[in-house]
Amino acid sequence: MKSIREEEKPEVRPIQSGPDKILINKDLLPSRGRYYKGELYARKLSAIEMKNLSKVRVETVNPVFNQIISSAISGIDLGDVMINDKLWLIYFLRSITYDDFPMKVVGTCPSCGKSHVHEFKLKDLDVIYAPDEMPSELELPNGDKVTVRFPTIETEIEISRTKNNPAFVEDIDEETMTIAAHITSINGESVGIYEAYTYFARGRGSAKEFARLANYLQKYAFGARPSTTYTCSCGVEVQVEVPMTRDFFLPKI
Ligand SMILES: [Zn+2]
Repeated sequence: MKSIREEEKPEVRPIQSGPDKILINKDLLPSRGRYYKGELYARKLSAIEMKNLSKVRVETVNPVFNQIISSAISGIDLGDVMINDKLWLIYFLRSITYDDFPMKVVGTCPSCGKSHVHEFKLKDLDVIYAPDEMPSELELPNGDKVTVRFPTIETEIEISRTKNNPAFVEDIDEETMTIAAHITSINGESVGIYEAYTYFARGRGSAKEFARLANYLQKYAFGARPSTTYTCSCGVEVQVEVPMTRDFFLPKI
């Protein structure tokens, strides 16, 4: 996987197009904005929104992030936002709200043991960009041909709706469903999320087919990681987590 670290890091400088409308340079998004037709705009977050972000927990992360993206990003319907862009957008919103006020993260070099205080800014975020070419059809080991796409927030909402649908008595394995949800058709026939899931849960898709799909997705996956990388004085690249903690959303300014 090619990460941004191997390329030159672009300076993240939002273009002001009005007091409350900041144009997002789509090229900086992990997806490179290639799934979005129009321009995307953002506004600075309010004190209440930042406070809500600072209290986010694993169970509330999706509704809180979605609500904030829906209200602070314009030019797109929430459902059309790629899941793999979500985390970047949250870092971006935090950055424009505080004029890219740095967050101090402490890294320890695994090679020489030296600690270093790194001042994280948005441009330092580890991002894996979508590849220029992404074949949409994949042939599975059993000969079935599937078309795939990367999921949007709408897909995510549908997964949660399907998982919680009382009409389905079975226990749905969410991770399997998340992978299966990338499939939009099997041998030319359109499939919904539930059909894609049952293809692996009790259909023609064995562990072999599932492994092929999962590896394919991993090869082309894009997204932001909650981490940053700096070069230690000994020359070794050190990766440090940039956690979305209270300090991150409510920095000591
Ligand atoms: Zn070192």
